[in-house]
Amino acid sequence: MAALRSALLYLRRTPSVAQMVDLPDRQSAFIDWYLAVVEAAELTDKRYGVKGLNVWTPYGFLARRNLDAVMVREIEATGSKPVEFPTLIPANEFAKEKEHIKGFDAEVYWVTKGGVSDLDVPLVLRPTSETAIYPVFAIWVRSHKDLPLNVYQIVNVFRYETKTTRPFLRIREIHFFEEHTCQATEDDATARVRSNLEAFRRMAEAFVLPYVATRRPDWDKFPGAFYSIAFDTPIGGARTLQIGSVHHYRENFAGPYGIQYEAPDGSQRLVHQTTFGLSERLLGAIIAVHGDSKGVVFPSSIAPYEVVIVPIPHAEAGPAILRAAEEVDEALRRAGRRVHLDAREDRPGAKYYYWELRGVPLRLEIGRRESESRTATAVDRLGHRGRVSFDTAGADVTERLREFDRALAERAMAGFRDAFSVAQALSELAGSDHVRILSWCGREECGHQVENAIAGALLGVPEDGLPWEAGAPGPCVACGETQGVRWALAGRPI
Ligand SMILES: [Zn+2]
Repeated sequence: MAALRSALLYLRRTPSVAQMVDLPDRQSAFIDWYLAVVEAAELTDKRYGVKGLNVWTPYGFLARRNLDAVMVREIEATGSKPVEFPTLIPANEFAKEKEHIKGFDAEVYWVTKGGVSDLDVPLVLRPTSETAIYPVFAIWVRSHKDLPLNVYQIVNVFRYETKTTRPFLRIREIHFFEEHTCQATEDDATARVRSNLEAFRRMAEAFVLPYVATRRPDWDKFPGAFYSIAFDTPIGGARTLQIGSVHHYRENFAGPYGIQYEAPDGSQRLVHQTTFGLSERLLGAIIAVHGDSKGVVFPSSIAPYEVVIVPIPHAEAGPAILRAAEEVDEALRRAGRRVHLDAREDRPGAKYYYWELRGVPLRLEIGRRESESRTATAVDRLGHRGRVSFDTAGADVTERLREFDRALAERAMAGFRDAFSVAQALSELAGSDHVRILSWCGREECGHQVENAIAGALLGVPEDGLPWEAGAPGPCVACGETQGVRWALAGRPI
């Protein structure tokens, strides 16, 4: 009877830990797998009353905060300063740059009333902040001494998304990083674009995300831009995910917004501008690229908890084991690690499952043997086992996490290299299960033929070389032209 009662108590106490989730197969049903993983790992709650507006749960919010910290660290290292502009943009400011408004018109939310009165000037909920920021840049920038002006903000933006929404990937309220800069000359702006590409390379290294940067074809550039460079990561098959972009605006916005400065020779000149945009899509990409049949796999830089400690109950040694777990927890906290001691009453196996699903990089198991030898058993999220001494826990865990990140990077790079293959002809593009590398003459009509053939997009010409060596490009896959051909990438963006 006592055993039955304790078994019943156990079941009542631990509904969440013991709950097993059947994840769909990642290869054959990727989107179903992605949605199931995001939900099971409790990274977001999509049960909010408006479609495409999701709730950041505590666990998801911690991951987001770590993501933001990397972006802030790397952009501030380039001299960019934080700002925050208002969420609402007056309709007349929003409408000033013709291409821009054409590109965003169908996606904006309007605020037309203040209380019960109609507003004299309707307001737009920012879909991106050029038109909020540039009227103020026109006031801030007076002289060449005010340049360069490099500022960024991390704010929420709103886009009325009409396609199927997906957590972190396609949503209507977006957690958005945007840098806006003013430079004296076109060359200075080009240099800022290069600096942003380098900053993103360092961010992606922290996220352990392999990607390729391509210059988007003209018909796919940011509305109002001179050119756009976007970062894509392959996520299986021919599918790609755009995870960020950098844009050169030349004087396209400076003209309509009157952002000009007095040059050293006394003349008035328009500034050249750039922007750099990233979003919570990066979190979606980290889940999509690293996740597996057990769930999420977080690189240590993003993991809400880098380490989880699981005490293994024992009839006599129980209190000593718990004390040992608390000692290691304390030591790791002091060493600056994000650590969580899971002291819930439950089977260790259920806890392993729970934290593997949530992507914690490193698990420390402490049972009787570990407590007596003052050495925890360490198992990382990729299944590598090792040991962590209680007395050098901080240094040992740092080393284990470094090894874990290295192994995760290797696995991701192997997947990245395998994601691409060369296509010699348009006929090879239909039903492609790779992101294709192909020869393109640069003409728009050939680009569209490629897009039709792959039922996706011509991503553009790689900015810093191909993901791997492919020799010299042959004739254009669409028209057979050999003059001016270059390698381009084509895939199916989701
Ligand atoms: Zn062609």
